[in-house]
Amino acid sequence: MSSIAGIPVRELAERYGTPLMVYDEGRMRAVMRQYAESFRSDSLLTAVAYASKAFLCKAMARLCAEEGLYLDVVSGGELFTALEAGFDAKRIGFHGNNKSASELRFALSAGIGEVVVDSLAEAGLLKSLADELQAPVHVLLRVNPGIEAHTHRYIVTAHVDSKFGISLLNEAEILETIRTLRSSAQITFDGLHAHIGSQIFEKDAFGEEIRKLFAFAAHLKNDRGISMDTIDLGGGFAARYTAEDAPIPTEEICRYIIGACEEANEAAGGFIRRILIEPGRSIVAEAGSTVYTVGACKTTPGRQYLFVDGGMSDNIRPALYQAKYDAFLDGKEDEPAVCHYTVAGKCCESGDILIDDIALPGAQSGDLLVMKTTGAYGYSMASNYNRLGLPAVVFAENGAARVVLRRQTYRDLLYLEEEETK
Ligand code: PLP
Repeated sequence: MSSIAGIPVRELAERYGTPLMVYDEGRMRAVMRQYAESFRSDSLLTAVAYASKAFLCKAMARLCAEEGLYLDVVSGGELFTALEAGFDAKRIGFHGNNKSASELRFALSAGIGEVVVDSLAEAGLLKSLADELQAPVHVLLRVNPGIEAHTHRYIVTAHVDSKFGISLLNEAEILETIRTLRSSAQITFDGLHAHIGSQIFEKDAFGEEIRKLFAFAAHLKNDRGISMDTIDLGGGFAARYTAEDAPIPTEEICRYIIGACEEANEAAGGFIRRILIEPGRSIVAEAGSTVYTVGACKTTPGRQYLFVDGGMSDNIRPALYQAKYDAFLDGKEDEPAVCHYTVAGKCCESGDILIDDIALPGAQSGDLLVMKTTGAYGYSMASNYNRLGLPAVVFAENGAARVVLRRQTYRDLLYLEEEETK
């Protein structure tokens, strides 16, 4: 029998039902502390912002506040959730490639700490809103340093087609954007932001990003007279989904980034005062597990299917980009893995596969299948496809659990319906 944070899986399933998302709160706190303690420098101010798109609810925002993290949001909805949780607006950064006027108004009125501007058009919109509302705001500009890093590879390209940021190759547009921002008395232009990818295992990818950003900042300062003091390196730190993944330990990647930034800053003349990182996945992925109940099993000529009571509606990552996961059958951990199963969900899509091929002991209807490392971009990308309700989410720590998001009911599924008047 397995436990999560000291609570037997069977007990969690009986108490809260399945499918159930369980977060080990202590584990999240431990990773947040590792970031806060090791992302420190003697010569630079440092900040760690949790990228809330990975998983957000009010309890999560409060956890970040308690552990001293900043928060990134990418929509009015994420911002609203954080503010409703009592998160200090001054410690929130607002990202996104197409923020609407109403979202920017909301952020400015809330007194947001920083807006990460993504385009020339957005700079113009923010300027006019900040001037109209007389709302002072700090701004970073997202640039595209031409580094694509995903999993075990990264490439440095002249890639200018990303939808995010402005390419460093397009200096004229960067200058125009900064000029627009600086033409508002309300806007303080702080510096540059970049985010080079996700599930990154290579330190060098971050090293390359750092060298490029500091060099470009120095060029803007020395050759174009644009002063700034902040560089934000984004997130992308990997998590361990399966035995094949070997993420760089948090302390090690933080030390590496700090060392590379200090070196690059010295080479650039030492004018950068503050650096930020924005981990999302690495804080929540491994702390999260999804508990499913096994229903039917079906054998076809090519596959042995094991069906569970959730699927792409609570975790679309395998269907969306072939994300790999590991899982076990509760109570059968010590039994030999004798069957190769395809774990499939209950949604009406052939592609609703959670795990394409996994060796497990023989499964029976009623067994509990625990899918590991589901804490990032699972619930946050969940949908009501087939009118399946969202699972409950529980935070567990030291043998105690609390529901932070209750299970959606049939009634909840109707909450947007306007009553028809005949
Ligand atoms: N920052 C930005 C701007 C992002 O776009 C993302 C993810 O897309 C993150 C941070 C978080 O990335 P990760 O969850 O891979 O750490």
